Amino acid sequence: MSQRVAIIGAGPAGLIAAEKLAGEGFAVDVYERMPSVARKFLMAGRGGLNLTHSEPLDTFLQRYGAAREWLEPSICAFPPSELAAWCEGLGQKTFTGSSGRVFPKSMKASPLLRAWLARLDGLGVTIHTRHEWRGFDDAGRLLVSGPEDVERAIEAAAVILALGGASWPRLGSRGEWTGWLAERGVEITPFAPANAGFNAGWSDVFKARFAGQPLKAANFTHQGRMMRGEAMITAYGIEGGAIYALSASLRAAIEAEGRAELVFDLAPDIAGDALAARLASARPGQSLANTLRKQARLSPLAASLLREAGEVPREPEKLAARIKAVPLSLTGMQGLERAISSAGGIARSAVDGNFMLKTMPGVFAAGEMLDWEAPTGGYLLQASFATGIAAARGVTEWFDGMKA
Ligand SMILES: Cc1cc2nc3c(=O)[nH]c(=O)nc-3n(C[C@H](O)[C@H](O)[C@H](O)COP(=O)(O)OP(=O)(O)OC[C@H]3O[C@@H](n4cnc5c(N)ncnc54)[C@H](O)[C@@H]3O)c2cc1C
Repeated sequence: MSQRVAIIGAGPAGLIAAEKLAGEGFAVDVYERMPSVARKFLMAGRGGLNLTHSEPLDTFLQRYGAAREWLEPSICAFPPSELAAWCEGLGQKTFTGSSGRVFPKSMKASPLLRAWLARLDGLGVTIHTRHEWRGFDDAGRLLVSGPEDVERAIEAAAVILALGGASWPRLGSRGEWTGWLAERGVEITPFAPANAGFNAGWSDVFKARFAGQPLKAANFTHQGRMMRGEAMITAYGIEGGAIYALSASLRAAIEAEGRAELVFDLAPDIAGDALAARLASARPGQSLANTLRKQARLSPLAASLLREAGEVPREPEKLAARIKAVPLSLTGMQGLERAISSAGGIARSAVDGNFMLKTMPGVFAAGEMLDWEAPTGGYLLQASFATGIAAARGVTEWFDGMKA
């Protein structure tokens, strides 16, 4: 009889682990608390499912910051090109956008998920929706509660936990499991929002006029790291891809000092001295507003942002320097409820090289529940898939080791 593996969580990490293990002949049961699977994956598809990124692998790996070394073996074993090929294998052609991001041509997650679930069904994977994992019994077995709300212990030869992080809890991943694992000696890093907006104390006038408008093509710098891109002005502050890319260091600065200083370059395509020369060519007596519009070519939003940062110098060199380095004080971060992902979770020290919990042999972990973080750009899904596959390989090797 084939060995039975229980997987908790039917997100990308759990489902890809199920595919791999069922493909190798294991009997796989997936338990998912929600009435349907992969809700966060489907939500990701709403704004265009950014599966992965096409940049060189070394650059790609740098996006994981301190977790690079940890994730490198699993991402190299299942790199972005293979994730795209997997998607195509399910009948969903992919394309690479001008930013290098990779998407299915349909942009959505639903056609891909439909084809994937059909494949899993064909492989004999059983998915139990409305089944919630609630911890362990005294014998270390998983306690699972079904729709009738009765807990029962699950017999499985190996387990993969793929419960996701703690952002957007209404989609199913709530992070309530940290205590159950901590009791069993698993080191956990507390969850924190990642890829979320930051609070800025906009004036009422600025907020009323510009909330909901994008700030296009600026450079954003924090602690010497610069990101180019677009940001969205919101009533509470600022959000968007370029800001998310700096969110780990911004969050750390706010935690340590109560504020972080983000510096904007509102004219990133012109050097400071050339900009100063252009500003100096303004007609004598011309208003500052006209100079910012005509000579500096700032949008109304960019010009107002400059004013939000304090008194605007008039002397061309000083004005050019300010336009190229506008300081904005960020005083807080938005919470987990609306963060795209979370930092924190199972610490690297708690798992072996195959993502098996060191204190719980036969129990593996994968996906966003592990303590890594990355910006948006396809890095979140890539690492979730790659660690799901690595955990599945870990299960196979663990059984092989027992046979030997
Ligand atoms: C709005 C939004 C847009 C995004 N867009 C992108 C994008 O374009 N590109 C990208 O790379 N990433 C994106 N992400 C992030 C990406 O979706 C996640 O990183 C990824 O889904 C994590 O996969 P996972 O399998 O680890 O966890 P999840 O997808 O969170 O899946 C975990 C599953 O476990 C289930 N579960 C949790 N606890 C229990 C329990 N106790 N019992 C049973 N089941 C349980 C949950 O219900 C859930 O279905 C986006 C996220 C959001 C919120």
